Amino acid sequence: MTATNLETIVKALKEYDGDEVRIMEVCGTHTAAISENGIPSILSPKIKLISGPGCPVCVTVTAVIDKLVELSKQDNTTVLTFGDLIRVKGTDKSLADAKAEGASVKMVYSPMETIKLAKEHPDHTFVFAAIGFETTTPVYAMVIEEAMRENIKNLKLLTSLKTMPEVIRWVVNNGGGVDGFIAPGHVAAVTGSNIFKQLSDELNIPFVVSGFEGGQLLMTIYALVSMKGKSGIRNLYKSVVTNEGNLKAKELVNKYFEPSDSSWRGMGKIKGSGMVLREKYREFDAGSIGLDEDHMPKGCSCASVLVGKVKPYECPLFGKNCTPDNAHGACMVSTEGSCYNYFVSGRR
Ligand code: SF4
Repeated sequence: MTATNLETIVKALKEYDGDEVRIMEVCGTHTAAISENGIPSILSPKIKLISGPGCPVCVTVTAVIDKLVELSKQDNTTVLTFGDLIRVKGTDKSLADAKAEGASVKMVYSPMETIKLAKEHPDHTFVFAAIGFETTTPVYAMVIEEAMRENIKNLKLLTSLKTMPEVIRWVVNNGGGVDGFIAPGHVAAVTGSNIFKQLSDELNIPFVVSGFEGGQLLMTIYALVSMKGKSGIRNLYKSVVTNEGNLKAKELVNKYFEPSDSSWRGMGKIKGSGMVLREKYREFDAGSIGLDEDHMPKGCSCASVLVGKVKPYECPLFGKNCTPDNAHGACMVSTEGSCYNYFVSGRR
């Protein structure tokens, strides 16, 4: 397939009649953009899009939520968290449940709010839930940098930070059946596209770095269909993603964090797939090491959804006992979750 203008590309994608091509979008923001733009309905049935493990809240194991719930109940302690995480259930309850029972949990909207709170209440301990991928890790590094600069001792991080290359490798090596990857645009902005070139060479699968606009996603899918069976990388998001990435952000992360093994929902522990605070800065850690257990809500198929083995609508609870207003599993809570996106867009 060779075409350059969008109209021709749409026609080619609609009429494609070659071998089946399975393309995984790894990033939760891509899942949302694909759904919002109605892209699956444009494609030939021979082009399958699969949503991958790129929603940070969805891949967080219950041990992390349980630890946050436990901390939120301690005297003189408040757990601070960004949006979606508050509604995700641990083994028994979510942070929202704990809050309703009197525990101290507060949503924050910017990382620097955590510094402000810690400064204003020096006798109170604040634990910031540091969940995310390469995109948000620099933010948590900035928080530590600022806490050190201000000599703040009452702010800690409970980290569940993950990195993309290792989980992509895991998906491929565990029967993912993926013919091409839409490389995560936000992650690539920090890491650079080179890490996906290395992965492509190693796995012999093509990667295309994409932005989030509908037209660009269609061009990305078209490129991946054309590259099926070959290794290679294309960067269609050059306005934001360079080969080397954001060197300043990478330097900041490297100063405070080091690679570690990490447990993922549905995949277990994956070697070298996480980041933890370096030993030197562990005084800022609220007990993140060894949080590996995962107890999924009964009947929830999130673990299989996250690795593309089950489509959200194939879960027996989808749209019945599990909806965005009454989410049973993490994949329906987060706006980046596959179940949430399939439900709100009607994607099939
Ligand atoms: Fe879990 Fe709900 Fe998704 Fe089913 S629909 S996999 S219960 S989040």
